[in-house]
Amino acid sequence: MTAKRKADATRRTAATRVAEVRELLDRYNYQYYVLDNPEVPDAEYDRLMLELRELESRYPELLTATSPTQRVGATPAAAFGAVRHRIPMLSLENAFSEQDVRDFERRIRERLPLEEPIRYSAEPKMDGLAVSARYENGVFVQGATRGDGETGEDITQNLRTIGSLPLKLRAADAPRVFEVRGEVFMPLAGFEKLNKEAVARGEKAFVNPRNAAAGSLRQLDPRMTAARPLDLFIYGIGQVAGGKVPAHHSQVLQLLRRWGFKICPQSRVVESIDGCLEYYREMGAARSKLPYQIDGVVYKIDDIELQRQLGFVSRAPRWAIAHKFPAEEALTTVRDIEFQVGRTGALTPVARLEPVFVGGVTVSNATLHNVDEMTRKDVRPGDTVVIRRAGDVIPEVARVLVERRVSGAKLVKLPRHCPVCGSPVVREAEQAVARCTGGRACAAQRKEEIKHFASRRALDIQGLGDKLVEQLVDQDLVRTPADLFGIKTEQLATLERMGEKSAQKLQAAIAAAKRTTLARFLYALGIRDVGEATALALAQHFGNPAALRAASVEDLQQVADVGPVVAGHICAYFGNAENAKLVDRLLASGITWPAPVRPGRSPLAGRILVLTGALANMTREEAAGEIAQRGGKVSGSVSKKTDYVVAGEDAGSKLKKARELGVAVLDEQAFLKLLRA
Ligand code: NAD
Repeated sequence: MTAKRKADATRRTAATRVAEVRELLDRYNYQYYVLDNPEVPDAEYDRLMLELRELESRYPELLTATSPTQRVGATPAAAFGAVRHRIPMLSLENAFSEQDVRDFERRIRERLPLEEPIRYSAEPKMDGLAVSARYENGVFVQGATRGDGETGEDITQNLRTIGSLPLKLRAADAPRVFEVRGEVFMPLAGFEKLNKEAVARGEKAFVNPRNAAAGSLRQLDPRMTAARPLDLFIYGIGQVAGGKVPAHHSQVLQLLRRWGFKICPQSRVVESIDGCLEYYREMGAARSKLPYQIDGVVYKIDDIELQRQLGFVSRAPRWAIAHKFPAEEALTTVRDIEFQVGRTGALTPVARLEPVFVGGVTVSNATLHNVDEMTRKDVRPGDTVVIRRAGDVIPEVARVLVERRVSGAKLVKLPRHCPVCGSPVVREAEQAVARCTGGRACAAQRKEEIKHFASRRALDIQGLGDKLVEQLVDQDLVRTPADLFGIKTEQLATLERMGEKSAQKLQAAIAAAKRTTLARFLYALGIRDVGEATALALAQHFGNPAALRAASVEDLQQVADVGPVVAGHICAYFGNAENAKLVDRLLASGITWPAPVRPGRSPLAGRILVLTGALANMTREEAAGEIAQRGGKVSGSVSKKTDYVVAGEDAGSKLKKARELGVAVLDEQAFLKLLRA
């Protein structure tokens, strides 16, 4: 082939791909903007958009005015009246990395000869839908969606139903025409409630709060909109006639607030790109605690005159950019579904996935919780699924794209025998969980028992990770937690990736873990349904293991939070000869603890404490454990009810709040003194 023919062929392939991607994007746009019911997660849409952009820049002759890269939103639905925007409602450029943000400022400086640092208004990027609200002589007259940017849908009556939109401006001298722009969204609590109710009625749940907000606002019957929990933040202005507005965007926001609009409380002015990035990190950390969903932050040049000089490109302003957070949802396929056996024998179906980058990490497994859940979600091997990972929550299969299912894909059944040890699997009536009946005969249960025993909140054996436990059990060096204390350095040194030095270190850690607390020891045993709080209550009530072992089901129920079921599990645990022997061996191996503190005698008993900043002598968890042992409570936020705020190194906003509310603040020394008292 000649070079020219080769190039022609590549261009033809590119043209085919461009057509393919455009068709997909048009379909996704329609589902998202018109039906409010997207098929794929945003990350998938963004990925295709990026691909199309790249193809179009490599082959400019393929670019057309109707390409999805050149347009905003979608054509407004005909069912609503049309509203022509006097000033177009545009989209925003996206930045996915720090470099993208720095490039954004570099482009600005190339256009404008600016010496001084640039100030930006940094705002959360609300995940909802853009609306405009028009006021004439201070009275709300028209509401519109963004539509295709030029023409939106008339949603005046629907917008009226949102309580936070003022119907009259609180301004004596309102401009003759004043148009504001903002985002309608559904707060998370309202979204969850709405979906719960929909599921209870047997209706379809909304995919996410954004689509719930869009679907609720774009109702033909405004009474439907009124019944939905919608809210609205205003973040800018459109057309203004017969009046003046301030010279800075941040001042405009203040003015809007004074005139009765709701402004996102997290908006603030920052200086230079470093200020923007700091804001990004801060909002990223706060994201999972906000009562509404945000998908990034927006930086806008604060000086409106500079905005004017920079102007627009086809679909977005040059003076603003959306810095997106890592997507919380992504598309992948289920390679297989396997059953994992847990500490108490519970069988958990786990989807083995084609690895996918989501929520900032690569995910290759997702729990399906139990067979009922797997069946309800209808997840099958080979399926294309949406994986969700929000904050530090473990990844889950959000939904299946049933329309992409390959024929012959079958639901996986609960096995009758344990996949690890072959013992029968039983499922008690009305229980979601099925269990392997093998007990310690099952290697999986042995491994999990030991992992739990060694874990941070239990005996906290430093350096004994899951992989090591698995090797120890597989090589039959350890069968029960008690065997850990008899293991020799030479044996540890035979394990994979273990030298003499690290074996010695691990052995020392095992020995050190013998000094613990009674509550940790009881928790470490892994009795069914005995979590940390119950273990602590048991330790405080009984004071020693002998008394606990002798307790009847009735005695146990004297302990706060212990009901008949948990009491039954505790009795059954100690009543089992194998367990009794294990506990004897553990005690004989020299596990010790200081006598539990009688909570009533500590000055911390009944007190509410908030921990903030870093302590030099203990971790936060240890501090919380010490407080709990003395009958105190640890709370996550400072309020008037807080008795003490313990402020370590670099204490931040909680310390400030404590001072504002006049709550007593303890430094580390004062705190240690109270612990000893
Ligand atoms: P965008 O949502 O990424 O950004 C622009 C919008 O951000 C504005 O119109 C406004 O509504 C909003 N916004 C929120 N807070 C703001 C603030 N403080 N200041 C200014 N604006 C703010 O862009 P877009 O063009 O509306 O939509 C494109 C995005 O929508 C895609 O990146 C994709 O994630 C998603 N989408 C998904 C699908 C799908 O099938 N999943 C389909 C179409 C679009």
